[in-house]
Amino acid sequence: MADSKPLIVRVAVPSPLRRTFDYLVPDNLQSTPPLRGCRVSIPFGKRHVVGLVIDCVDTSAFSIDKLKPIAAVIDQQPLLPESLFKLFIWAANYYQHPIGDALHSTLPVLLRRATPLPAVNHVPHWQPSLLGLGLGPDSLKRSPKQKALMADLLTEAPLRHDDLVTRYSAALLKQLQAKGLIEAVSLQPQPAEEAQLLKEPALNLHASQQIAMDQIECHGFNTWLLDGVTGSGKTEIYLQCIEQILRYGRQALVLIPEISLTPQTEKRFRDRFNVPLVTLHSAMTDKARLDAWAAAQSGAAKIVLGTRSAVFTPLQTPGLIIVDEEHDPSYKQQEGFRYSARDLAVIRAKQENIPVILGSATPSLESLNNCHSGRYQHLRLTTRAGNASQPNWRIVDLKTDVAECGVAQSTLKAIRETLTNKQQVLVFLNRRGFAPTMLCHQCGWVAECKSCDARLTVHRSRGLLMCHHCQYQQRIVPACPNCQSHHLVSAGEGTERSEAFLQGLFPEIPVLRVDRDSTRNKGAMQTVIDTVDSGQPCILIGTQMLAKGHHFANITLVAILDADSGLFSADFRSHERLGQLLIQVAGRSGRGKIAGKVIVQTHQPQHPLLELLITEGYSSYANLLLSQRGLAQLPPFSQLAVIRAESPQARDAEAFLQDARRAAEAIACPSPQLSYLGPLPALMEKRAGRYRYLLQISAGQRGELQQLLATLCAQLEKLKKANSVRWSIDVDPQEL
Ligand code: ADP
Ligand code: ZN
Ligand code: ZN
Repeated sequence: MADSKPLIVRVAVPSPLRRTFDYLVPDNLQSTPPLRGCRVSIPFGKRHVVGLVIDCVDTSAFSIDKLKPIAAVIDQQPLLPESLFKLFIWAANYYQHPIGDALHSTLPVLLRRATPLPAVNHVPHWQPSLLGLGLGPDSLKRSPKQKALMADLLTEAPLRHDDLVTRYSAALLKQLQAKGLIEAVSLQPQPAEEAQLLKEPALNLHASQQIAMDQIECHGFNTWLLDGVTGSGKTEIYLQCIEQILRYGRQALVLIPEISLTPQTEKRFRDRFNVPLVTLHSAMTDKARLDAWAAAQSGAAKIVLGTRSAVFTPLQTPGLIIVDEEHDPSYKQQEGFRYSARDLAVIRAKQENIPVILGSATPSLESLNNCHSGRYQHLRLTTRAGNASQPNWRIVDLKTDVAECGVAQSTLKAIRETLTNKQQVLVFLNRRGFAPTMLCHQCGWVAECKSCDARLTVHRSRGLLMCHHCQYQQRIVPACPNCQSHHLVSAGEGTERSEAFLQGLFPEIPVLRVDRDSTRNKGAMQTVIDTVDSGQPCILIGTQMLAKGHHFANITLVAILDADSGLFSADFRSHERLGQLLIQVAGRSGRGKIAGKVIVQTHQPQHPLLELLITEGYSSYANLLLSQRGLAQLPPFSQLAVIRAESPQARDAEAFLQDARRAAEAIACPSPQLSYLGPLPALMEKRAGRYRYLLQISAGQRGELQQLLATLCAQLEKLKKANSVRWSIDVDPQEL
């Protein structure tokens, strides 16, 4: 342009403020101004920070001479494709989160700094050199291995290093290289040729899999809910859909709840396909995460397997998104940017115009409701693949069948029988530690956390009393601090106690505990999996970590020690969660040839929900819960948001939310469509020394709630009281 209009960029900055910041593009950068989606280095307060350009504009609401210039442009090309950029903006608006923080918190750590994006992730290949190409048929006669390797490379080249070393030694490659016959080349992996796409053939689908598969169309947007009991062959359908889109030269994004707990899933993908696959999860080094991210962005990685935040991975050629175990609560981030990866996967698929498959044996009520209303397509797999059959359930009444260390007599009998038959047992107890309470037999004193409304859990093996809600821990006290009595009792049971009890009863049998305490050491989970895979009789005891996706062929008995806690919780989702957990845990039983048994211990053997779940199955159970939600106008039949506030003084948190409610009522005229509940104390009012309150806002329509929240957030930010509390907003909360 002839006139030198100052060029202005609007930058998203990692800051809690819900706004962007304008900067000037200085003269020396005018010829190559940053593009939307590029990182820039900018002065911000007293620091320099990395921000992302949201827009290039030529006017600002601020006076030009007040604007600071950007310090440097980090990327020449946008980091994020336009469609993904739109997803971020949509999500930041929808979840009422500052865009700068949303972008920042989901980018690989190294990209949050000024680290340049690594060049495309090239993979080492080998090819014949010119000299090698001219090799006569009689050469290399004295070394048959070298000759065979050379013959392979002369038939087809370049070949991937990783593939070659499965057949030939690395030393052999070095020898031919030293002779100048072959050379190493770094190449972007080639799209697999049809013949080599699969490492192993796909399975022949059984009838109900085939019916589901025939309906899934892999071009264009559509959402499928693949609703199939554990072991019904959902993963096989994922694999075959991925195969289709790989043949179109496209990439697949697969979300799973937790990778470290399910190494088997990753292995199944790797065993099937001959294409580059990357994983993205929290246990990776920053460098590895950046490399995987970059490989997805460049299109080199054909399959991206990751946990929640992987939904934001850029893809060069997206073709399909899969969300496995779509009901899993871990898809909702519970702090900071509180997004639902499952819901964003659907939004993203729509924006990219590609299919999305949500799979589960126990679909969320939201997804089932979306099927009923026709937004999602419901696909059912009702039988288990192979010969495995559905488990048999039995209820044990704890009122008449007294439990010792959490295990009832008849349960014990079933455990003994199973072990005698050389089979394996899974014992489920969703409470870690030795005992949930320590009390004084003399005066009734109970060990409580000083910072939380909670009791301290006894961890006997470590000699500690620990709070599971804050960092607090102390040595186990030898005497009651109240009356000095030495008669202290550990009351109730956790996994550690039941483990010790069972190990005492079955000293010859491995008893393996799986919970957050026992799996802290690297490799601990692998030891468990190896023992179980060996097929020898053993007892696995653990928390919900055991409910996730493992395939253990020899487990024929699952014992659920306590089904009661989920029956009587104040959270409106607790029955949904209980049903999902019981069915998922039960699904670990009888996945091999022998039918499994499931024992449920409860004080409420006649509870109608429990009975419905066991006799009619999850689908009837979920439909009943859905109709109850409908009557009560709870989600998914209404739209819910929660504003939370916490503070060392209870009255500050409560007063802030009272102001918030008044502000909301002033913004949106009172209408039957909008309703408020609170401020109320949270279910656990005091936690880590802070008093926690919440205000629920529910609306008939999403749009209505969104409009209100956007205005409300802007006002709350400016409230003076906002400085004396920690507050946050949670749209579509999963926990209250
Ligand atoms: P899900 O993902 O629903 O739990 P999987 O896909 O893991 O089910 O299948 C359970 C088991 O059945 C796996 O061992 C799988 O290899 C096997 N399986 C799945 N589909 C078939 C099929 N069509 N023929 C034979 N075996 C199958
Ligand atoms: Zn006492
Ligand atoms: Zn505590």
